[in-house]
Parts: sequence; C-alpha cells; structure tokens
Amino acid sequence: MDDICYKTIAQLHELLVNKEISSYELTQAYIERIDKLDSQVNSFVLKTEEFALEQAKKADSQLRNKRDLTPLTGIPIALKDIFITKDIRTTCCSKILENYIPPYNGTVVQKLFDAGAILLGKLNMDEFAMGSSNEYSVFGNVHNPWNPEITPGGSSGGSAAAVCAGFCAASLGTDTGGSVRQPASCCNIVGLKPTYGRISRYGIIAFASSLDQIGPLTRDVRDCALMMNIISGYDPKDSTSINLPVPDYTKALIADIKGIKIGVPKEYFVEGLEEDVADRIKEAIKTFEELGATCVELSLPHTKYAVPTYYIIAPAEASSNLARYDGIRYGYRSPNYTDLRDLYEKSRTEGFGPEVTLRIIVGTYVLSSGYYDAYYLKAQKVRTLIKQDFFSAFEKCDALLTPVMPTPPFKLGEKLDDPIKMYLSDIYTIPVNLAGLCGISIPCGYSKDNLPIGMQLIGKPLDESTLLRIAYTYEQATDWHKKRPPL
Ligand code: GLN
Repeated sequence: MDDICYKTIAQLHELLVNKEISSYELTQAYIERIDKLDSQVNSFVLKTEEFALEQAKKADSQLRNKRDLTPLTGIPIALKDIFITKDIRTTCCSKILENYIPPYNGTVVQKLFDAGAILLGKLNMDEFAMGSSNEYSVFGNVHNPWNPEITPGGSSGGSAAAVCAGFCAASLGTDTGGSVRQPASCCNIVGLKPTYGRISRYGIIAFASSLDQIGPLTRDVRDCALMMNIISGYDPKDSTSINLPVPDYTKALIADIKGIKIGVPKEYFVEGLEEDVADRIKEAIKTFEELGATCVELSLPHTKYAVPTYYIIAPAEASSNLARYDGIRYGYRSPNYTDLRDLYEKSRTEGFGPEVTLRIIVGTYVLSSGYYDAYYLKAQKVRTLIKQDFFSAFEKCDALLTPVMPTPPFKLGEKLDDPIKMYLSDIYTIPVNLAGLCGISIPCGYSKDNLPIGMQLIGKPLDESTLLRIAYTYEQATDWHKKRPPL
C-alpha cells in the first residue's frame, strides 16, 4: 500500500475509474501511512479521518455511477492550515487562533470539495505564513523526509513534506515571498506560485494582501496542471482576482521547447549562491539547450533591493491584516486583564509568537506618519522598478531560469537566531511576488549531502502555460522527481 501513496493524481485517477481501488481504500491507505510515519515528520496539525472517509464514500458512489467525475474525484489531499475550512479547526499555526472553527469554506476549498477531492487534514506551517523553515509554528517544527535534521522549507513546510512523504496525493500552500516554491525545492516536489489574481484568495487567512497567492504542491508537472484547472478563476468575493477565462493547463503539457528562449539573470548568480546549487542550475541550462531551447544571459538590475523592499511592504500589510486579532472579536483572549487596553495588549502579546510580533512592530513603524514616506512609499517605488526590470527582460525571452534558494535545504536551528540570514533564503523567490508574476519550482538534482535542489522558472503574468510546458519537457527528460525520500 505504501507504493500507492506515491502515485500521482493522474495515475490514481486511472486506478479509481478502472475500479482497481476505491477511494475509501485509498483514503485508508494514506491514513495508515500518516499514523505510522508522521510522528517522524510532524506535517499534520489536524487529521480529519472521519470526514475524509465520509467524503470517500460519496466519491465512490460517483465513481460507480460515473457521475460528475473530475480528475480529482476521490483523490485524497491535504491543506496548509491557513485555508479556512467549515467546521474544521483552522489555526494558521498560531496560539491566537488555537480554537478557531470557521463557519464557511474558502472559495478554493469549496472548489476542491465540489470536484470530489478528499480532505485528509490540515498541515503545519510557519505562524501566519511568516518564515522559511517551518520553525515558527505553535505545533513545533516539521522534519524534512529526506533527513530529519533538515528543514522542509517554509512557510508551507507541512504541505511540501506531506506530499514528499506520501501522506497525500497533493496539497495546497500559499506563497507571499516564496512559501510554495521554496519548500517544494527543499522536498523534491513541484510547487507553483500562480500569477497574482489567477486564484481567489477568499478564505485564506491574509498575511500580505498585495503579495499572497495560493499554489499547488504536487509530485509532478501534470498534477500541477490538473490542480490549476480546478482552483483557478475569477471570484466576485476577491476583488483582486482576474476576470479572464482560464485555459486548460493540461494542454500545455507538450514535451517540446524548440525555439523557446530562456533568460538567465546574471544578478541571481552572485556571492551567496552555493556551489552545489549553481552547478545544478548550470546543468539544467545545458539540458534545456540540448532540448532545443536557447538560454540567454540578461540583467535584472534592481534585484538587490527585492529583499529589503519585501521586508517593508509585507510587514506593513501584515500589521494591518493582523490588527483584527484583538482578543475581542475572535481568537485567543488573555485571562488576566485589568481594563480594555490591558486586554488588547495581553491577548496580542501572549497570542502571537516572536517572529509575528517582530513583523507587526516593523510594519507599524514603516506605516507611522513620521516614517511612511521614507520607508513604505519608497518601497512601493522600488517595487515598480523591480517590476519594470522583469517586463524589459520578457521582451527578450519567454521565461526566466533561476535558483529557488541560494543554498541546499539547511539544518533546523541553523538560521533561527539571525533573521536576516533566514530572510535571505527567499532572495530568488521574493521578486516574483513583488512583480505579481508566476513562478514554478521543479526538482533538478541533489547536493553533496543528497538533499534535494530545485530550479525556478519565472513567467509573464498569466503565462503559467509556458512554465508548465518548459517544466514538463524538462521533467520528461530527467528523473529527479521520481526519487523518494528515505522515510
Ligand atoms: N519567507 C518569507 C517570509 O517570511 C515568505 C513567506 C511566504 O511566502 N509566506 O515572509
């Protein structure tokens, strides 16, 4: 049964429609595997077995009657605990939401349920999605299935580790500065951050609203396209969602990139990039050229400002979004307070962890009247320059190729006492969010210590199809994605 837990959505769909396995049996197989092995990974913060088995029964009856079938009918998945799920505890891995039971499903969750997907549970993450190592969770850190001493990445660390460990067929994460792509890279799976606005954010807990985007974490590129088909599209409940038709992303799965031009930004290959990663990217460039693409060096001159710009804009938006957790409306309330002000202060001080507190303080500071122009407004201007860099680059190429992270996945604890070091692990992913583009991370080899390394392909707004096509072509020519962790 452990083998079945490593099949792709597409393979499982075949087995389900051919009645070689039922959704109920499949769901049980994952539940058993999670029960047996998740104590070594800590990817689930809540298991929803009963709910999953009920959903599976319904899916089985649909499969029997061949009624309303989709590629996700009967497929067990799991969700980052930032997705609002009706009657199912949703905590964002924060003490402040430890007992929060939402009264509704977010748009994407509802779409998944309508498509017949099965929910196995909610996945660990950095508190409020702030972090790059999944060490800032009230439920403790996640261990990388490739090596328990290593981070699975963050903030969607549980989502990436669960797919990697064979605990679900696919999962969803959110990506504000790299939180889908970076953990995907650490765990040897595929992670896509779609274009800002491609997917409705209604019903995910907001971190930084001008940057947040939902993205799938899957075993291969085809599964990524299948998930995108289900979750994309306009939603009147999210005013930032784009009102344009959604293409069939599986149409992009053509193993042919002859004539495609791939830009390689020289600012992404400077000091700080470790040799292991640089070597894997160089090999990928070679593979792309052998496959008929042309790789050209180009420049994104404002790259070095991306991390400081992000660490002004993201905390500013977070400080505003997190103001609602005041101990009154919902969430944790301190038991020992003297008056209203004391209640606010104590509830927030006790409810938020240190990284979230730091971000709220920084965000409030950069928005305060004396410093707004110097920080927030300036950062917005630099954001425009970063965006323009990309648009000039896309005049010369169809997509960009970069590393995902400057280093292979690092040791748990290694960057905990130095926030700047932690922040720099997103140096290659953050610019994509600032510019509202799409980016995908796919496996491209291993480090000296046998840890996964991913590469990033960056695309024009709403051009996920080109990314999927390039990624698919590469995947057909390599077998990195087929390797399993030694769990
Ligand atoms: N690591 C980045 C941060 O801490 C990005 C997180 C994310 O994409 N959610 O803000």
